[in-house]
Amino acid sequence: MKELLGKDMRLTNQRKIIMEQLQSVTSHPTADEIYGMVREKMPRISLGTVYRNLEVLSTLGLVRKLENAAGQKRFDGDMSPHHHIRCQVCGRVGDIFDAPDISGIEDGIATDFEITGVSLEFSGICPECRSHRDPEQ
Ligand SMILES: [Zn+2]
Ligand SMILES: [Zn+2]
Repeated sequence: MKELLGKDMRLTNQRKIIMEQLQSVTSHPTADEIYGMVREKMPRISLGTVYRNLEVLSTLGLVRKLENAAGQKRFDGDMSPHHHIRCQVCGRVGDIFDAPDISGIEDGIATDFEITGVSLEFSGICPECRSHRDPEQ
């Protein structure tokens, strides 16, 4: 894979720190949140640089990008197969590890698009938002 990477695609030190920060959390942070995290180690880094590095890391398949029309892009350092559930109230994203394997689900689907990926996202209300809604429980 390395020889396919251009000059900009090297795993620079900066990029490595961003990736390690992302792998150390399970909160599926947005680029802004990751920016806040890496600034402790790299006080002079800009938000634009963090954005660019995240895009490159996701192109390289080193992190996952969670896109949703409704909200900000979020990033996930956990590349193991899993699905996501998004809180409809606060937007927080949780992991689901025991849902059925959907790889291969695209086989036999009739479309003139070239399918490049598939993702399954559940929606719900997270425990914290539920407790605000029903203080009794
Ligand atoms: Zn919530
Ligand atoms: Zn995840």
